[in-house]
Amino acid sequence: MEIYLDANATTPVLPQARAAALSVMAEAFGNPSSIHGSGLRARAVLDEARATARRVLGASTGRLLFTSGATEGIQTAVLSALTALRRRRDTGESLPPQLLYGATEHKAVPEALKHWNALLGLHLKVVAIPVGLDGRHDLAWLREQAPQAGLVCTMAANNETGVISDLDGIAEALQGSPALWLVDGVQALGKLALDLDRRPIDYAPFSGHKLYAPKGIGMLYVRDGAPFTPLIAGGGQEGALRSGTENMAGIAALGAVLKALESGEVFASAQRLAERRERLAAALRDAFPGVVFNAPFALSLPTTLNVSVPGLSAKLLLDLFDAAGLRVSGGSACGASRAQPSYVLEAMGLPAWRTAAAVRLSFGGADADTTLDEACRRLRACGESLRASCQIPSADEAPRHAERLTRFVVDGACCYVVADEASRRAVVIDPLPELTERLAQWMRCRGIALAAVLDTHSHGDHASSAPALRAAAKDLLAPEAQGHRVDALGWPLDQDRLALGALRLSRLATPGHTEDATAYLLHEGETLRAAFVGDTVMPGALGRSDFTVSAPLAFGPSLKTLAERVGADVTLLPGHDYDDRFATTLAIESLAQPLLDGVLRGRLSAEAFAAEKAELERDLPPTEYQTMACGARVACARAAERVEMSAAELRTALRGAVAPVLVDVREDYEVRLSPTGELAPESVPLSTLLNALPRWSALPADAPVIFFCRSGNRSAQAAKALRRFGHAQAWSLEGGLALWDAEKISAPADGLAFAI
Ligand code: PLP
Repeated sequence: MEIYLDANATTPVLPQARAAALSVMAEAFGNPSSIHGSGLRARAVLDEARATARRVLGASTGRLLFTSGATEGIQTAVLSALTALRRRRDTGESLPPQLLYGATEHKAVPEALKHWNALLGLHLKVVAIPVGLDGRHDLAWLREQAPQAGLVCTMAANNETGVISDLDGIAEALQGSPALWLVDGVQALGKLALDLDRRPIDYAPFSGHKLYAPKGIGMLYVRDGAPFTPLIAGGGQEGALRSGTENMAGIAALGAVLKALESGEVFASAQRLAERRERLAAALRDAFPGVVFNAPFALSLPTTLNVSVPGLSAKLLLDLFDAAGLRVSGGSACGASRAQPSYVLEAMGLPAWRTAAAVRLSFGGADADTTLDEACRRLRACGESLRASCQIPSADEAPRHAERLTRFVVDGACCYVVADEASRRAVVIDPLPELTERLAQWMRCRGIALAAVLDTHSHGDHASSAPALRAAAKDLLAPEAQGHRVDALGWPLDQDRLALGALRLSRLATPGHTEDATAYLLHEGETLRAAFVGDTVMPGALGRSDFTVSAPLAFGPSLKTLAERVGADVTLLPGHDYDDRFATTLAIESLAQPLLDGVLRGRLSAEAFAAEKAELERDLPPTEYQTMACGARVACARAAERVEMSAAELRTALRGAVAPVLVDVREDYEVRLSPTGELAPESVPLSTLLNALPRWSALPADAPVIFFCRSGNRSAQAAKALRRFGHAQAWSLEGGLALWDAEKISAPADGLAFAI
């Protein structure tokens, strides 16, 4: 059973609301504008819903119109206010020069301000009202600026943090200002008394789907006397304020929710909600030591908890919660390759790690108490799972298994741990500052000593985090790592090799991307297993050579040296991997990159290579992400091929002549929470995929290797990586376990069961 803790995004539809919607579709289906009996029945539903809304909002006067949702309400309010300003300007009046909105406002507000400001040709300044660490508006700032404002927009409660605005304080700060006042009431509806009759609020938009009504219905309150311009003109419905035949199913459903709210029987009281928040907070503290709450409880809606956990990314927490059947939201939007920090938390001035790692848990006033209890139980199970898989400290001292190669990725930048289980020693290559604590924890929990921390080059744009890692892992330093002096890249002075049991690392100078660029070659006995090549060669790209620390003329010869020492088919592990390709070889890259091919075949001299490379880099912007200047892509490397296999195709494959190899690429902590039952796949978390790629690529050509994960995203990466390694029968279960589970329910006779 899934536990839905994402009520600030949307809510399920209350049974009463469903019944009301069905009833107007089945029985009172008339058009409320018709004057016959069917129409009158619909009109009665409409009138009753509006009357209930007025009572709930404390809005006995003013206009209250039904809209499609809050975004439409916001447009209407902004259009109305700005049209009035424009009329004043057209009559020669001088206008207040700015429009103000809270810095943590939902994007619909500043975007609507900018849109209509430009479209109406007003060109007023659109300025964000700063907020403090507690998320509340800076009232002193507002008091000073409000006299020069034509419209002020401040939300009643924030959707990411739950922070409740000081509406009376804002009203006081606006006294004497010519500004109209818009209050986005979306997250406050049903949770706070807005008391619209009492407050000088001009516009207040609301949304049904945040309060157990369906999507596509909302309301806009407009104070008596506030300017109004319809957004939609037409048949004159809603007193000509909003034309178009009314969404009666939505209105009836919203009316039923508001009725339930009034009755006090369905929704929990503020005190009960605060108790539930305390229970969730206690479970979070038990599960994740060091968890921080990003908004003060005393100033926030009790139904919203915004948290960050030191050392755990939002992505990790979201995957973990999802595996436990807990549906929560990232406090920040995660783009394909880079997590965007939350602008709300940034505006509050929280430290960067908290704005990037934030996760939001939000529940609804009509959720059952038992649901919250189950949520607390699962949160604690999540903490246990992280402890059991070494992600956070555990009292259990038994050292865990260490894979030979583990890869960590932050915004496309790769860091590797090479570990030898027998000698319990490891080397970290290209540490990243975001990973310091995680890497130390990784080694501590496996009883692994840190033999060295190496960089493949000096990064130019940022200092190496190797000293920070050595400091964080001081208790883990191998004896020789304590005494040894090292060079700027971390290599022990006076040594030409680093031994890790049967493994051995040696280095190879590859100047080009930087003068000090170095490749580390990993041998097992006499066999060269892999080369860590930093940004010299990446999937689809060669490292840039236009930095002040670059050595462009040396780049071509370095590539030739690499080819001579490493060969065409040995695994290259890059410093950046923007397209989730994991590993490559010179043979693969020569096919994709003419420049590389040219220099390796001797068609290009060192000078010609440098000149062509400079030409490629001429108009390259400084970096894709300002944080990582080293590995900008010079060729698009994303494979277009389709690797997905549907659930039906998987069933067929399971009955085929050649038994497929099934691989679960989720991380340990997810698998622990939702094991895959009798299908018993091999478990190879994506972070350790590199170890298994050579083994799978040696399978018979017709043996399918089918990867799966939660959503199909990570398994597609694995399948593409294996195909690049030459095994064409590499597949990813489309839609992941989430859809497979749904499919299983619809085709139970098949006998296959993932117990998820
Ligand atoms: N305002 C706030 C505070 C919200 O949380 C949302 C929804 O996320 C909106 C506005 C937009 O509402 P709707 O989805 O009804 O357009």
